[in-house]
Amino acid sequence: MKRIGLLTSGGDAPGMNAAIRAVVRTAIYFGMEVYGIERGYAGLMDDIVIKQEMRSVSNIVQCGGTKLRTARCLEMLTKEGQEKAVKTLEKHGIEGLVVIGGDGSFRGAKVLSEQYGVPTIGIPGTIDNDLQYTDYTLGFDTAVNTCLDIINKLRDTMTSHERVSVVEVMGRHCGDIALYSGIASGAEIIVVPEISFDLENIVARINRSRANGKHSNIIVIAEGVMSAEQFAKKLQSITTHAVRPTCIGHVQRGGSPSMADRMLAAQFGNKAVRLLRDGIGNRAVGIHDNKIIDMDIIEAVSMKKKFNYQLYETLQMISM
Ligand code: ATP
Repeated sequence: MKRIGLLTSGGDAPGMNAAIRAVVRTAIYFGMEVYGIERGYAGLMDDIVIKQEMRSVSNIVQCGGTKLRTARCLEMLTKEGQEKAVKTLEKHGIEGLVVIGGDGSFRGAKVLSEQYGVPTIGIPGTIDNDLQYTDYTLGFDTAVNTCLDIINKLRDTMTSHERVSVVEVMGRHCGDIALYSGIASGAEIIVVPEISFDLENIVARINRSRANGKHSNIIVIAEGVMSAEQFAKKLQSITTHAVRPTCIGHVQRGGSPSMADRMLAAQFGNKAVRLLRDGIGNRAVGIHDNKIIDMDIIEAVSMKKKFNYQLYETLQMISM
């Protein structure tokens, strides 16, 4: 394969730029040409295709966001849109495509490979960590670290005023950001879409911790359950402790990627290009048991995400 394309799609995630750099530099190392498609699949509709050189990706390894920008593209869900995408690839002589994005973006990649024969490689770039086939997605570690920074600050002020903080983090269907930031920040309670909650139990847990000498409480809630504001209102109606909601919001999606995310980006990008170079397409790259892996992209998107109940129990035991 001599010429490949590369796009970022769906929600942005820290580490996407580092992955772009790894793809571009690995391809050039192997004597391949790389074309960057701006604004995800929308760039294929509008033919925004730009050749990437060694220096096009200088000084971006540390930058959040994505230099190729990203978009949601409804046209890609239609047959006409998909045909347009394939025409653009053909026009530029692009023989294979690397898609950096979440499960939706992978579904687009799957259509291109399954129905139009375009070899595609998916790199999991999403802060949600909602793909079962890989232990971690790109951007998750940085997003959790951003949450930790904010929760640490909230703990300071909540302790001074003896309050309960309800902190809303991202995660529509997947509670991993809440789970990991809850454990790592020492939050007493997490509320996630995977497990139903009982307000009376939560109040009992808060009261128990106060009786044990605690001066504040942190509850981390995933956005998919409800907003921090709604939850704080419900909680306040049945407790005398002062409750304060905070929504972390889009801050989670930005910022310089952590070491862990830069390492993933380097390895995912490198692996994606090696696969295309060897004529292998329709794969998703990931990490499992500390090893970089690849698997059938259709299988990867079909796997149902499992919640880590063991980690949840650990939090229950150690955060009192
Ligand atoms: P995140 O996890 O951050 O939301 P994502 O990749 O899952 O990222 P989506 O908005 O679900 O984000 O998908 C991104 C784009 O992928 C869509 O706007 C659309 O262009 C394309 N896409 C999603 N689902 C399909 C599908 N079934 N067929 C073809 N293209 C799709």
